[in-house]
Amino acid sequence: MRIALCLTDTKSAPWIEGLHAALPDAEIVDWTPGCPQADYAVVWSPPQQMVDEQPALKAMFNIGAGVDAITKLSLPPTLKIVRLDDAGMSVQMAEYVCHALIRHFREFDVYEAEARQGRWVYRKPLARADFPVGIMGLGVLGERVARAVQQFEFPVLGWSRTPKSIEGVRTFAGEARLGDFLVGTRVLVNLLPLTDATRGILNRTTLSALRPGGYLIHIARGGHLVEEDLIPLIDSGKLAGATLDVFQQEPLPADHAFWRHPKITVTPHGSARTLRSESIAQIAGKIRALQAGQPIAGVVDPQRGY
Ligand code: NDP
Repeated sequence: MRIALCLTDTKSAPWIEGLHAALPDAEIVDWTPGCPQADYAVVWSPPQQMVDEQPALKAMFNIGAGVDAITKLSLPPTLKIVRLDDAGMSVQMAEYVCHALIRHFREFDVYEAEARQGRWVYRKPLARADFPVGIMGLGVLGERVARAVQQFEFPVLGWSRTPKSIEGVRTFAGEARLGDFLVGTRVLVNLLPLTDATRGILNRTTLSALRPGGYLIHIARGGHLVEEDLIPLIDSGKLAGATLDVFQQEPLPADHAFWRHPKITVTPHGSARTLRSESIAQIAGKIRALQAGQPIAGVVDPQRGY
């Protein structure tokens, strides 16, 4: 069995070493144009050429949860695209969202600014009932985030494509219920996959529909947000601010206004990092299962795009 790696912007040597340890009988190679046919590929943002030159692949494993960099390519209809299922990412997302939510709700940024001036100033406590948290996308990550936010007793809403039942979460499904979900939400958390149906879904219309004082925590993909709509919404007082981890252009250009806006917090697409050893163990387990003719979880539906 041969496994080809094609990890754009990621050092492949530790992945090769890890996969070799997990699958000692496999030949693990770094993909280069013209390299021999492989049975499986492990990829991050592979070029079209790689797909075109490897028609015999049985499956392509993405080292992330979001597969939009693969689904945008022209793919053979029989090729299985397999995403990472959690592999240590959901707890990181839960940490990130709870941190951003609580920082906003408890006004820590205001306290930090006061503290820098040496000022001892109390703020009136806010009611968490007035900060319903709405999570777009109730998949592997969104559901874990919903549970974490519930621990702090915020009201939680969730929106997904198909109906879901999650204890303690007011759930909404489908485009027809998006409006009801948004008007009940104050802190909006985006954990949708980037597909034709979700591109640009965070825009002037949807963000204006949030409850007064709306706040955005945007951690899925840059293509979800119409970036030019955000600062006018904040400056006009429609939104209280935003925490952004993903951008149309990454790295975010140094002169981008998001960096310097006082009500926007920027992080460099690190809300949930791929953890190498957990990911290798998961991919190796799935390759063993496929070799044994068993079904695996995390196969992308090409029609849905996630
Ligand atoms: P899943 O595929 O497990 O879940 C996706 C959820 O989105 C599902 O609940 C799905 O609904 C819902 N959804 C999809 N399309 C629509 C739609 N058109 N309308 C309403 N709901 C929709 O994904 P994960 O939870 O694992 O990951 C979510 C995304 O997070 C990834 O695709 C990726 O873009 C992003 N991500 C970002 C990272 C970062 O570091 N910033 C790291 C990892 C992931 P249904 O359940 O009905 O199918």
